[in-house]
Amino acid sequence: SVSAPQYQRVLIKLSGEALMGDAAFGISTKVLDYLATEIQALVALKVQTSLVIGAGNIFRGVAGASTGMDRAAADNMGMLATVINALALQDALERKGISARVLSAIPMLTVCEPYSRQKAVHHLHKGRVVIFGAGTANPYFTTDTAAVLRGLEINADLVCKATRVDGVYDKDPLKHPEAVKFSSLSFSEVLHRRLKVMDAAAISLAMDNNTKIMVFDMNIPGNMKKAICGAQIGTLIQG
Ligand code: UDP
Repeated sequence: SVSAPQYQRVLIKLSGEALMGDAAFGISTKVLDYLATEIQALVALKVQTSLVIGAGNIFRGVAGASTGMDRAAADNMGMLATVINALALQDALERKGISARVLSAIPMLTVCEPYSRQKAVHHLHKGRVVIFGAGTANPYFTTDTAAVLRGLEINADLVCKATRVDGVYDKDPLKHPEAVKFSSLSFSEVLHRRLKVMDAAAISLAMDNNTKIMVFDMNIPGNMKKAICGAQIGTLIQG
């Protein structure tokens, strides 16, 4: 059935750019409210829900380094920016009456809890949404890698890459109208065809540990719930 969850514990990766809405940067409260509604549908199904958010809407380490900044310093800024997004999403969830906790890989005791795997699992058991902030706490990594890593640590049944396209294509569908969408893929196909799903570090971590990754369009209302209920939307990567 498309209304019964197929996964009990999930991790959803949202790009920072997802939070911009129509703007060129920053955080749209309209988008936050939409995402909170989508997440609310999972909580209503008692799915243990956790999230990782990027920071492309605020700051990316690579962009800072391209202007001459030290890469590690710029990456630290990028990681701090993910905490800003995480706090915004927590606020949007709590305004809907959904209990949510931000766990930051870089401790900032006065704004959120420091990350620990045990804390994360504890909150999930209590029915709280967990938002992992500050990526992996390491420069030169990305929030895609943080998503796969946290997914493994908490034993998530599924890692979702909620994005602006409706799955993985053989070439960029925006540039090539004849591009073909995959309904499923193996990790070796992703690597051999150099498909841009997640960065190579994230894909190799997922491949080594048999993580299941679902890629789908987060801008279609109901998609998050459909993905978790096992509907054939987007692209499923495994094995
Ligand atoms: N970042 C990092 N280590 C991590 C995760 C993130 O250094 O483990 C930094 C990096 O500078 C990155 C920025 O945080 O550019 C924002 O993350 P990301 O680019 O993954 O965001 P997204 O593209 O998903 O919006």
